[in-house]
Amino acid sequence: MRPFTYVKAQTIAGALEKAQARDTVFLAGGTELLNWARIGIESPEHLVDIGRLPSLDGIEAGDNGVRIGALGRLNDVAQDPRVASSYPVLSQAILKAASPQIRNVATMGGNLVQRTRCPYFRSAEPVPCNKRAPGSGCAALHGANERLAIFGWTEECVATQPSDPVVALACLDAQIVTEHPDGGRTIPATQFHTLPAEAPSAHNVLRSGELITAVDLGAPAPRSAYVKVRERQSYEFALVSAAAAVEVEEGVISRARLALGSVAMRPWRLYDSERALVGLRPGSPEVLHAVTVGFRDSHPLSSNAYKIPLARNTAMRALELALEA
Ligand SMILES: Cc1cc2nc3c(=O)[nH]c(=O)nc-3n(C[C@H](O)[C@H](O)[C@H](O)COP(=O)(O)OP(=O)(O)OC[C@H]3O[C@@H](n4cnc5c(N)ncnc54)[C@H](O)[C@@H]3O)c2cc1C
Repeated sequence: MRPFTYVKAQTIAGALEKAQARDTVFLAGGTELLNWARIGIESPEHLVDIGRLPSLDGIEAGDNGVRIGALGRLNDVAQDPRVASSYPVLSQAILKAASPQIRNVATMGGNLVQRTRCPYFRSAEPVPCNKRAPGSGCAALHGANERLAIFGWTEECVATQPSDPVVALACLDAQIVTEHPDGGRTIPATQFHTLPAEAPSAHNVLRSGELITAVDLGAPAPRSAYVKVRERQSYEFALVSAAAAVEVEEGVISRARLALGSVAMRPWRLYDSERALVGLRPGSPEVLHAVTVGFRDSHPLSSNAYKIPLARNTAMRALELALEA
């Protein structure tokens, strides 16, 4: 492990200033970053510890729905009564992530910035991986790609984004709020992660030294649900997951939002399905057809065609649970 300097930030302004030095990264809960340093994915020269910054761990009602501070611990967010009742999809997604112990330490901001679990990206031995070594290729394209992308991949990268909470945030049309010395901004959760066609080596759109300060959840979505399919029922990343939020008026679906997880390098909204669902009666046979419409642009890799029906059925189940809520 490369030696690094460590400094604890006392204020947001101080954290931003310290993060302008080259090769500096923020440390929040440390549950990802320290692993990355250990296996060589990240070797910063400077760590700026933001883990105890005052004012970034609150959960409060704001103009854009509930606002979650970037340092909100995952378990605190999931168990907040306003989140659990008004945004059940997020609460459920968080409680299916990692383990209770990790969720006590891990933060919302850190969860958004987590990197792919593609085995080649995380390999102990050097293998072609454009995310790990830009320009080296993608060993997963014709390799062990059972768990990797079915949407939005290119020959340069077929990885997936593994976060559970991010799928719920994309479904809710949540906004990610940042600060940077050149100016803060608000980034839609659907646009925060980068597809390989945009930049195969990138994971997200954050600039160097840009600090996530909060996540605005938007309008409440009490009729919402999250379904995660994994190889064991706890402490496991998703094979696929789905988040659904619905509104029903006069017995028909008036609005539907559907997002898939672990199928692309960003949470994948099924916009065509969402449009096709409007006007349908819950439980009618057309609902499955409407969900299927969103899979027209799915493309399996050599070993993961199973993920297409699995993801469709998972989306269907999330939709049914949201309609029952
Ligand atoms: C064994 C294991 C199993 C897991 N299983 C799951 C799972 O099933 N589902 C799931 O969703 N996640 C899972 N995770 C990921 C876990 O949720 C993340 O490790 C955690 O959320 C990261 O948060 P952190 O605060 O510890 O981030 P850190 O490790 O401190 O930081 C991670 C990255 O985020 C950056 N960062 C942190 N905060 C900010 C900020 N405010 N602004 C800008 N950059 C920031 C850091 O610089 C770093 O690059 C798992 C992790 C482990 C170790």
